[in-house]
Amino acid sequence: MKIESQCLHAGYTPANGQPRVLPIAQSTTFKYASTDDVARLFDLAEAGFFYTRLANPTVDAVEQKIAALEGGVGAMCTSSGQAASMVAILNLAQSGDHIISTSNIYGGTFNLFAVTLKKLGIDVSFVDQTSSDAEIEKFIRPTTRAFFGETLTNPSMDVLDIERFACLAHKHGLPLIVDNTFATPVLCRPFEHGADIVLHSTTKYMDGHALQVGGVIVDSGNFDWSNDRFPEFTRPDPSYHGLVYTEAFGRAAYIVKARVQLMRDMGCCQSPQGAFYINQGLETLPLRMEKHCRNAERVAEYLVTHPDVEAVNYPCLPGNPNKALADKYLPAGCSGVVSFSLKGGRDAGARFIDSLQMISLQVHVADIRSCVLHPASSTHRQLTDAQLREAGITPGMIRLSVGLENIDDILADLAQALEKA
Ligand code: PLP
Repeated sequence: MKIESQCLHAGYTPANGQPRVLPIAQSTTFKYASTDDVARLFDLAEAGFFYTRLANPTVDAVEQKIAALEGGVGAMCTSSGQAASMVAILNLAQSGDHIISTSNIYGGTFNLFAVTLKKLGIDVSFVDQTSSDAEIEKFIRPTTRAFFGETLTNPSMDVLDIERFACLAHKHGLPLIVDNTFATPVLCRPFEHGADIVLHSTTKYMDGHALQVGGVIVDSGNFDWSNDRFPEFTRPDPSYHGLVYTEAFGRAAYIVKARVQLMRDMGCCQSPQGAFYINQGLETLPLRMEKHCRNAERVAEYLVTHPDVEAVNYPCLPGNPNKALADKYLPAGCSGVVSFSLKGGRDAGARFIDSLQMISLQVHVADIRSCVLHPASSTHRQLTDAQLREAGITPGMIRLSVGLENIDDILADLAQALEKA
């Protein structure tokens, strides 16, 4: 099936007389006839549901759909995008290990990496994603366990050269983890360019309606975990009566381990009701992404010629430094997020945001309704000025998430607010 059809049909095929719409299995638990039946589930000898923290029919259907959309062997939903990033790392790194991340990532992920993982003994080096291979390789240590980057960076809207980072990681026996939140599999499928693990904040375009916080991790099944850097995959797991993940689950070793070890112990699961909302969003994802892209292109073209606008970062714009990468990785469009700054700096930016009428100020992005945010005073508030610069954020930068309203109304609101800025 093509992606539009997968969005509607993957993950749930009703049998004769069953509900046409994915049912919400609102139950924490599942009934079995014998202790042997339950023991087989606990031994992972049979697939089945026994407790919703680990798996649930509604959540499972959404996981199967997202795995199909990304072209992976399996997926696991989490309670938020933050939980997805945390579990994706903890599944392959432990105290004493090291990760290499690009520096211009979402502020919450930056904080998780720079502060919280550090407290757990995992060190993260941040690299400029435009650095040469040789400069990036200098950061690799014997304890390095993965590379991390965002397809489209939040909020600076730079494009990750996924193939280059994947080649660099693989040369050193390391996997590449890509946060594909802004692009979604409709605009870019990172596994096709060599990424090994993909994650999303489903809170953003996948849900798209600002209904449900969530995350997901998807496993390509392509990374070979049997090199010396990942003994947790190839040696018996004492917390799972001696199970060896690569032997028992082959290509699905990473995603099964994430579930049976980390979801079991940390419990950051998506709820059945939440998964239902995400599924509703996924059904129209291709339609929405196309419209978000077309509207954002019009907005970027308008802003770039406006006399009060200092700079616009939208990778599809002619002359944008990311244009060649956008043409390669995002041929259908660069999503609905446009970042820009005003010549009047931070104060003019504040006046502009306060003057908007239809477009709302929200700590959110990738919604059907257009919204704006000032990253330096909100999502990236905890960053120092130097860290802000590394993340590609100027103090006056405005992140505009272009929604699905009529483009004339969006442009009219921007015009009247710019006049007052
Ligand atoms: N990754 C990206 C690119 C994001 O933009 C966000 C949130 O804005 C996250 C991860 C974290 O997701 P959540 O807010 O669902 O925890």
